[in-house]
Amino acid sequence: MTRTALEAINLSKHFGGVLALNDTSFTVPEGSLCALIGPNGAGKSTIFNLITNFYPASSGEARLFGETLTGCPAARIAARGLVRTFQTARVFPGMTALQNVLAGARMHQHSSGLAQMLWLRGARREEQALSRRAEGLLDLVGLSAFRDAAATDLPMGAQKMLEVTRALMARPRVLLLDEPAAGLNDTETVELAALLRAVRGNGVTIMVVEHNMALVMNIADQIVVLDAGCVVADGTSVEIRGNPRVIEAYVGR
Ligand code: ADP
Ligand code: MG
Repeated sequence: MTRTALEAINLSKHFGGVLALNDTSFTVPEGSLCALIGPNGAGKSTIFNLITNFYPASSGEARLFGETLTGCPAARIAARGLVRTFQTARVFPGMTALQNVLAGARMHQHSSGLAQMLWLRGARREEQALSRRAEGLLDLVGLSAFRDAAATDLPMGAQKMLEVTRALMARPRVLLLDEPAAGLNDTETVELAALLRAVRGNGVTIMVVEHNMALVMNIADQIVVLDAGCVVADGTSVEIRGNPRVIEAYVGR
């Protein structure tokens, strides 16, 4: 039986008087790709922010493989295998593309003194292996040419891909991607779709916020539709297509 990788249970969030998320629940099975869609301001990014404890939830809970994420610090969340990207690219300034990817590997290192000592001893070999893996990932996503360029000098599309690459470097079990195709051209979008399929093929669970409907219909096993902070539909692309509440969310009432 397939396990549940990610679960939102009655998540709500108030920002002052604004109810950004209203009693939201969904489950994402392990190894599947779930698209989170909905109009601007529907609460999609807020869901990611609550799941990763970027903001505390007003009520409700998120679980990773059955265990609560509530109160779990960001570094610990990455160590448990949940890694995210942000809607606006957040590459690390003052670092090359390769160094940005390498930084992903350190996201889930939370070392004790002993581990630190062992790490120092094996550091060189480890560092070389990490570099090779980072270079391999840059190659895989077609960013090799930018390896030694300052990350902030990359075109916006490449910066978005770099963020995904950095997230992959952390060896996620569950990957949350917030609008990874925004700013990508058509070719890059096709490449992103192939990458996401390959990543899912390796058993990684993916939840992706995406506006490109063709992309969503193409790659998603499950689509969760959010409107004004509420889940209005949750199903396969066939189930979602033509759902009056989904049309209403987009076309208005
Ligand atoms: P989406 O990602 O679906 O476009 P968001 O999750 O970013 O939507 O936002 C949902 C609602 O919550 C919006 O009304 C937005 O203005 C509000 N919101 C999001 N983040 C904050 C914040 N940090 N402070 C105040 N309001 C916020
Ligand atoms: Mg958003």
